[in-house]
Amino acid sequence: MKIAVLPGDGIGPEIVAEAVKALQALDLRFELETAVVGGAAFEATGHPLPEATLKLAKAADAVLFGAVGDWKYDKLERALRPEQAILGLRKELGLFANFRPAICHAQLTDASSLKPELVAGLDILIIRELTGDIYFGQPRGRRSAPDGHFPGAEEAFDTMRYSRPEIERIAHVAFQAARKRGGRLTSVDKANVLETFQFWKDVVSEVHAQYPDVQLDHLYVDNAAMQLVKAPKQFDVIVTGNMFGDILSDAAAMLTGSIGMLPSASLDADNKGLYEPSHGSAPDIAGKGVANPLATILSAAMMLRFSLNQEEAATRLEAAVQGVLEGGLRTGDIASAGCRVVGTQAMGDAVAARLRAQR
Ligand code: NAD
Repeated sequence: MKIAVLPGDGIGPEIVAEAVKALQALDLRFELETAVVGGAAFEATGHPLPEATLKLAKAADAVLFGAVGDWKYDKLERALRPEQAILGLRKELGLFANFRPAICHAQLTDASSLKPELVAGLDILIIRELTGDIYFGQPRGRRSAPDGHFPGAEEAFDTMRYSRPEIERIAHVAFQAARKRGGRLTSVDKANVLETFQFWKDVVSEVHAQYPDVQLDHLYVDNAAMQLVKAPKQFDVIVTGNMFGDILSDAAAMLTGSIGMLPSASLDADNKGLYEPSHGSAPDIAGKGVANPLATILSAAMMLRFSLNQEEAATRLEAAVQGVLEGGLRTGDIASAGCRVVGTQAMGDAVAARLRAQR
């Protein structure tokens, strides 16, 4: 099992080190190879996604990714900014399906910004299409300056588009995921206003004919946003396009208490994937040893399950995280009364110790 480890910037190296620690405590055989990405790669090579890093990611069975970005690169030309590395990896590796589970751990209901009864037991899965939509349409008319801004411009626009095969493949992934869970899929669109999303709705409905055992419903994105904060437990699996998925999954993140708890997987057609926490590089807390490593550790569990076929190890890792939370350990972002607040390394040590104790 060859894993490319790309820590990146900000808190990336701190949280990835703890995920690697947890993997090593599992007593499985991994070949781990680390490479620079994002701002760190720009500093070292002049490019956020160097050829050698891309080659390593392509050759590996899975990629464990930290986070990229720092405000200090905001003045750089867009193509050289750290965030281009993650967009480039998604595109080059064909990672079209982004899985973002939003699970509210029983011990963390108080950390949510919603009332505990609305989120206790929450377990939803948002599947976001990742390589199409307005983010990859033609930025026609863009005449931005090298720093990405528009001095003196009168307009700017991006084009939204989806092709039938792009919608069909994400719909199949979503129906199959729903089949393995509660059997309910909600497709989120804006078919009342956008042609692209009437097309999306039609194609998802056509694919549904192959999954009669899954219950499908459709929701406009504005209503979906409202329902997510009104009664989030009504959902099982949500599938949506790139931009709506970007926004809704961050909203769902807060339902669970902290973005520091949320893992994600981005998969290609063969289940090879890139695994990363849902949050960014958090430059405000980088180097302080306070970042929550659990989203990255839980991303490693998703990696074991989806790309490395190690379901049993994935379950053990998730159980170890659960056990540590039950034991009352918290990083600052999920702290509550009566709990012991620890730093990044101590949290990683506790998860690894639980795994070793299970052996
Ligand atoms: P962010 O997710 O990095 O941080 C938002 C807030 O959440 C901050 O207050 C931060 O301290 C906190 N936070 C995030 N992760 C945490 C953790 N593990 N433990 C405790 N607290 C945590 O989002 P941002 O501040 O908007 O962006 C910072 C940088 O990250 C930007 O350069 C942005 O472009 C980049 N970014 C990268 C990715 C990625 O690598 N995939 C994703 C999102 C943002």
